[in-house]
Amino acid sequence: MGTARDPLYRETVKKQYEEWFSHCQSHLDRMESELPPPRVELQEALASQGVSRRDFIKWTTATTALLMLPPMFKPLVARAAEQFSRLPVVWLHFAECTGCSEAFLRTSYPNVDSILLDTISLEYHETLMAAAGYQAEQNLEKALADFNGKFVCVIEGALPRGLDGKYLTLGPKGKTGITLAKEVTSKAAAVVCIGACACYGNVQAAKPNPTDAAGIGEVLGIKTVNIAGCPPNPANFVGTVLHYLLFGGLPALDSIGRPVWAYGTRVHDYCERRPHYDAAEFVAEWGDAGAAKGWCLYKMGCKGPYTYANCPKVRFNDAVSWPVMAGHGCIGCTEPGFWDTMAPLEKPIDEKTIGGGEKTVDTIGKVLLGATVVGIGVHAGLTAIRHKDNDNADETSHKA
Ligand code: SF4
Repeated sequence: MGTARDPLYRETVKKQYEEWFSHCQSHLDRMESELPPPRVELQEALASQGVSRRDFIKWTTATTALLMLPPMFKPLVARAAEQFSRLPVVWLHFAECTGCSEAFLRTSYPNVDSILLDTISLEYHETLMAAAGYQAEQNLEKALADFNGKFVCVIEGALPRGLDGKYLTLGPKGKTGITLAKEVTSKAAAVVCIGACACYGNVQAAKPNPTDAAGIGEVLGIKTVNIAGCPPNPANFVGTVLHYLLFGGLPALDSIGRPVWAYGTRVHDYCERRPHYDAAEFVAEWGDAGAAKGWCLYKMGCKGPYTYANCPKVRFNDAVSWPVMAGHGCIGCTEPGFWDTMAPLEKPIDEKTIGGGEKTVDTIGKVLLGATVVGIGVHAGLTAIRHKDNDNADETSHKA
């Protein structure tokens, strides 16, 4: 592999970006002609919520960087954002607490991400829609017929497999979650799991797991895009949808289905308390002098060294803060099985690593990274989940 100083390498990278740029342009053109017109004019929605054009441009710059695209993509990211409300979405709820929907919808003040989520074309969302019973069922059937192969299925919640799936039944016909999930995902262009429950089962699947719950991919045996977290950061969902709108395919995923652009780095490596870790300055007790000075929370059970997520970079609530910044260690909520293995432990996973922890922690990190990340191209290795009606042109442009 070349370096940025190598002119041939630079030329190759430039050509690759130009190819992607032209692919994205034609994909956006095609989408504008194929999908229904935008339900909401984004610029009007932004203005009505007091978000200025300048704020939108700043957001476009930040989001382009977040998606690991060069600045030349900024106008295309803005154009993709304007298409957000064209994309039909069917949002299913299974075994969960609805905390992910809450986290996405209840922002304290509007920003571009939250306004984009407000404009999304929700053809079906059990928590938000006014319809109930048979009318809701009809809405879903209509959405599946109208947008067969074109909608994105977003799933919140795990699927219980016990009693033939009867621990979870929905709707007037009493379908099991598994039946409904199979029916809807088989017609979707892509399946995006929101939150740790849908991704890997989360607390429903924690020991002793009486309902035999598990994540969607495991239960249905399908490939899903996993926006992990409890709750996940809305920016990671918005970024994934924008990538889909831009490229007509989903970004490269790690071996457990998480987009590499959002989950490719370790929390520990971007944490603002990391210098204290390196200087062996640890909080030893809640409320001690080290806690007041913002020292490292490793000895209080922080699982940042074992967790892959962009929380320190993106933060929550309009980038105001994130758990470690607020004073609590990371609980590892983007990792499968964290409820059993990480969250309840207010101590390091292995106490022997304290003091000599750097080597152990970094070794663990490298092993996890090696096992987790498949391919380094965030955009080059687009997944097999694609528009079912994509033509061959898409295939060619997206190959790694
Ligand atoms: S152990 Fe936790 S608090 Fe300490 S540097 Fe790593 S992520 Fe930050």
